[in-house]
Amino acid sequence: MLHSRRGLIGAGAALTLAGTAGAKAKAAAPEAKFVFTLPVTTVPVVDTDEVFPVRRIYCIGRNYPEHSREMGSDPTREPPFFFQKPADAVEFVQPGTVGDHAYPSLTHNYHHEIELVAFLKSGGANIPIDQALSHVYGYTVGLDMTRRDLQREMGNEKKPWEIGKSFDHAAPMGPIHRADKIGHPTKGAISLAINGKVRQQADLSDMIWSVAEQISKLSEAFELKAGDMVYSGTPANVGPVVKGDVLVGKIDGFPDLSIRIV
Ligand code: MN
Repeated sequence: MLHSRRGLIGAGAALTLAGTAGAKAKAAAPEAKFVFTLPVTTVPVVDTDEVFPVRRIYCIGRNYPEHSREMGSDPTREPPFFFQKPADAVEFVQPGTVGDHAYPSLTHNYHHEIELVAFLKSGGANIPIDQALSHVYGYTVGLDMTRRDLQREMGNEKKPWEIGKSFDHAAPMGPIHRADKIGHPTKGAISLAINGKVRQQADLSDMIWSVAEQISKLSEAFELKAGDMVYSGTPANVGPVVKGDVLVGKIDGFPDLSIRIV
């Protein structure tokens, strides 16, 4: 089952979240009335009644050597690059259930990408690699679902491939496992099976850029903040899914992430 884990911004909570409003809004805060209430996307923290409020979803591209090659890159030379999905693309799937995942509009080549996802409890700019993991709150198993045909068409035309990556429900994931309980996974099997047949299989240690390196590099381009998450890249052999397919994503030490394409 999929659960919509969204709270509403209350008068108090909204003020801290409304970063762009700045000092002016702060001064007017006590009297401010919202035109409407805005849902806050959250991800549950496993074995607690707490939820993690989502600010931004960052994703690294081509971060496993074989996947980099299959996408036409040289994994030894290319610096990391990143894109974003909208925060409300999160589709939470409770472990032990199979989430119904809607086949999205416009695509005829809808791909799976299984990934380890890191969640930040703090951030900053220009974070050194050796301090990067101190900002990580926890991890989960996620899918970076991709409208590959749209991504490729736009890329071929040198247009932004936003439409291929950033769409509703494009980020299915399980609950967060806190780093202070499980540590920081840097090795272990990662795999994805469709209808029982393994399609993607690798080890977290195969990553070209580690999670720490990703956070450090990202923070050169963006000031990272609590609530941000980072999809850490997918192994080779990404491929299409069709309606009726059941996907099971696995990472050592985490419960399975399972969705059915509907
Ligand atoms: Mn990806």
